[in-house]
Amino acid sequence: MSDPNNDAFLRAQQVIPGGVSSPVRAYRSVGGDPRFLASARGAYVTDVAGREYVDLVCSWGPALLGHAHPDVVAAVQEAASRGLSFGAPTVAEVDLAEEVRRRVPAAERVRLVSTGTEATMTAIRLARGVTGRPLVVKFAGCYHGHVDALLAEAGSGVATLAMPGSAGVTETAAAETLVLPYNDLAAVEAAFTQHGSRIAAVITEASPANMGVVPPHEGFNEGLRRITREHGALFVLDEVLTGFRVGPSGWWGLENARIQADGGAGYVPDLFTFGKVIGGGMPVAALGGPAAIMDHLAPLGPVYQAGTLSGNPVAVAAGLTTLRLADDAVYAQVDRTANALADAVGEAFSRAGVEHVVQRAGSLFSVFFGPLAASSGVRDYRQAQAQETYRYTAFFHAMLEAGVTLPPSVFEAWFVSAAHDDAAVNRVLEALPAAARAAAA
Ligand code: PLP
Repeated sequence: MSDPNNDAFLRAQQVIPGGVSSPVRAYRSVGGDPRFLASARGAYVTDVAGREYVDLVCSWGPALLGHAHPDVVAAVQEAASRGLSFGAPTVAEVDLAEEVRRRVPAAERVRLVSTGTEATMTAIRLARGVTGRPLVVKFAGCYHGHVDALLAEAGSGVATLAMPGSAGVTETAAAETLVLPYNDLAAVEAAFTQHGSRIAAVITEASPANMGVVPPHEGFNEGLRRITREHGALFVLDEVLTGFRVGPSGWWGLENARIQADGGAGYVPDLFTFGKVIGGGMPVAALGGPAAIMDHLAPLGPVYQAGTLSGNPVAVAAGLTTLRLADDAVYAQVDRTANALADAVGEAFSRAGVEHVVQRAGSLFSVFFGPLAASSGVRDYRQAQAQETYRYTAFFHAMLEAGVTLPPSVFEAWFVSAAHDDAAVNRVLEALPAAARAAAA
């Protein structure tokens, strides 16, 4: 009997490159055919064959509350009934921007866009416009969307497909990006010593999760703040993935609370980029920062940025409702579940004799395989790439067979939601031992 997933994939490949609208969905690094999803509710997704899975992808981050939260769906339906798109300002956009500023006060001004890629692209353009400088510093293994300037040694799908970058990015664009090893402030100092007067911005994932989860070492983000300030460059903190997911004020909020508890002053970047949770599953992203910088954007300033669907009322309704529902209890629940799962994953691999390390950043976590990772942890992209990636393939498919969907790449973070209750978690726990043994083979 044919499987509707395979039929759908065959059909898709006849009309969509690789059969998917975004590369990692194609299962290229884990093999096999992707599941075509028909619906999602709470902690579960259901494929076109009617099979239900506990979902640890959560739409790659946005589904903080779980899929199809009734209040979010109701808000979307209500907004849709009033019109799908106006191409004019709405009060709900102001509400959303105010909610972002309430959580991250340094985002005095917030510009809404539709994707994280647009947010980082605009942040880079703004940094160049404000400073009048051409160069951008990024870190190997960090993914900031498919912006030309930011694709070199990017994480996420670029890492999954083992690509150094992307064809179609001109040498000129690539030459204006300096790629440095993550967690290496000496490399940043050296780059600024050599090129300081030409560097417009340093962009970093607030806590990288696109080469697997590789948190910043203590003092790294603060160091970036110090160095960029000394040289008159902007510091762009990309919170597209971490923002409003790892805590009410994102990674920045978590890290600053920790620094301040230790008696430090904390740090504030010049620009933040947000995506994923801010749209609650719909296309909303944003950049934010002080008025003195953000007001360089059109219509006030000379840096152009625009979007037919920016601030779309239906999408904004989903994002605003999600953020309003994401209170401390939600973050505490997500943290508890993530901790339980991360512990159980580590234990299952240890029992199966698989050398590994589980790395965490707030509620985000992922596994790295191999003796090197197990002995000293993973601090940068080179180490992330050096792991035994093949172990993930067997593990991934065993979990899938047992009814659990994981990200189809070892280089992606696992995501949980507030809807992952005991029943969902127990299903994962039951699947883990056999899947870990499959990874040992
Ligand atoms: N920045 C980070 C840190 C991301 O994780 C992503 C996407 O995964 C992006 C930017 C790009 O966002 P989008 O896929 O919405 O364009």
